Amino acid sequence: MPPRYCPPEGQIVQAFTFALDPTDEQSAQIARFFGARRKAFNWTLEQIRCDLEHYRETGESTTPPSFYSMRKRWNAQKDRVCVNADTGAVWWREVSKEVFADGVRGATDAYWRWQQSRAGTIKGRKVGFPRFKKRGKDRDRFSFTTGVMRLEPDRRHLTLPVLGTIRTHENTRRIERLIALNRARILGVTLSRQGARIIAAVRVAVARPQQSGVAQPDSVVGVDVGVRRLATVATTNEVIGELANPHALEHRLKELRRRQRQQSRRTRGSRQYRETAATITRLHAQVAHVRRHTIHVFTTTLAKTHGVVVVEGLDAASLLCQKGLPGARARRRGLADAALGEIRRQLRYKCPWYGSTLIEADRFFPSSKTCHACGHVQDIGWFEHWTCEGCSSSHQRDDNAAINLARWASLGSVGAPVKRGAERQTEPRSAVGDDTRKGSSTPVGPNNSVRSAA
Ligand SMILES: [Zn+2]
Repeated sequence: MPPRYCPPEGQIVQAFTFALDPTDEQSAQIARFFGARRKAFNWTLEQIRCDLEHYRETGESTTPPSFYSMRKRWNAQKDRVCVNADTGAVWWREVSKEVFADGVRGATDAYWRWQQSRAGTIKGRKVGFPRFKKRGKDRDRFSFTTGVMRLEPDRRHLTLPVLGTIRTHENTRRIERLIALNRARILGVTLSRQGARIIAAVRVAVARPQQSGVAQPDSVVGVDVGVRRLATVATTNEVIGELANPHALEHRLKELRRRQRQQSRRTRGSRQYRETAATITRLHAQVAHVRRHTIHVFTTTLAKTHGVVVVEGLDAASLLCQKGLPGARARRRGLADAALGEIRRQLRYKCPWYGSTLIEADRFFPSSKTCHACGHVQDIGWFEHWTCEGCSSSHQRDDNAAINLARWASLGSVGAPVKRGAERQTEPRSAVGDDTRKGSSTPVGPNNSVRSAA
């Protein structure tokens, strides 16, 4: 796999997204490009699959696929591959070569991710052999990495290769200004479809001078994420803020159910069916926007304000797997609606930007079931309020957890980390060496380059 682009010292890679307002002609062209990328992706994958099969049958190994070798093969064969079945016309000239290259790259990258996952050299969930893409199931997209990519000075237009100048739905001020001042350079542009909209993600290397520092460099806060409240922020002894859950999905569920019922009664492919489908798409887009906006505003404020932010190391994805209990589906929906992992993901890149430090507590640290007053650990189930059996003080679940997390940062805290809470009793503090704890929490270095859709 080709190494990822590393920006020079003092620069970070960031993506700015803008909704576009293409003309009808441009929309049709973009749709064709989406299909062309799929074509190149599927063709490349088929070649790789055939090579593998050939190897399994004969034992003759071929050169391992790389982006460059596969693009060469594509260019040699595109006259044969890109032929209109009805008219026999060769159509690849109508599409930017970048779009095909992007498809070829996507397939080879996916192949290597599968190989690396099999070898165990990448973290995360097991990756399977890439699947063929299908219209309607594919996340329509393509990228440009070379050619004319320009944000026009009027801040309302984006110029791209072949497609020409496209009007943006939003003002591009956020990034156009930096480019004009020579503080940012465009690396690539990805066009994708989100719901009914076409979105451009402009990837830039931007010189981000370390801003004057966070507002309260000595402030240490713990952030507990949850469903009741999206987040609770606390210092080592009191709660200082909370983020209400906007219940983005829940508030639209009734309307969504009604529309989906309506759609089910209509004839597939009819005008009314399409209208209802568009409404459903719009509702889902609203859910995503509300959720994203709420979390972005919150994480930016946190990263700009406090010197040290401590978050739970919990595995949000595994929470979504719980089954069996009555109401488990509704609970999973609530968890998904709260996007628990997203706050931490955003803090991971925003904290280094603004000069604060993010600490992720050990995932087995019982932040909820440890009493912050006396350090007693007990099982508290799903209850919101509970009373400590050790010192009989009563706690609100999220408040208590946030305080415990804030204390995680300073090592002489109440509630030493124990594996699996009650199963193994608290070891004497001296036995839990400072080094082990430092090892489990991972402060994020200041030079990490990250991409994001800020
Ligand atoms: Zn207690």
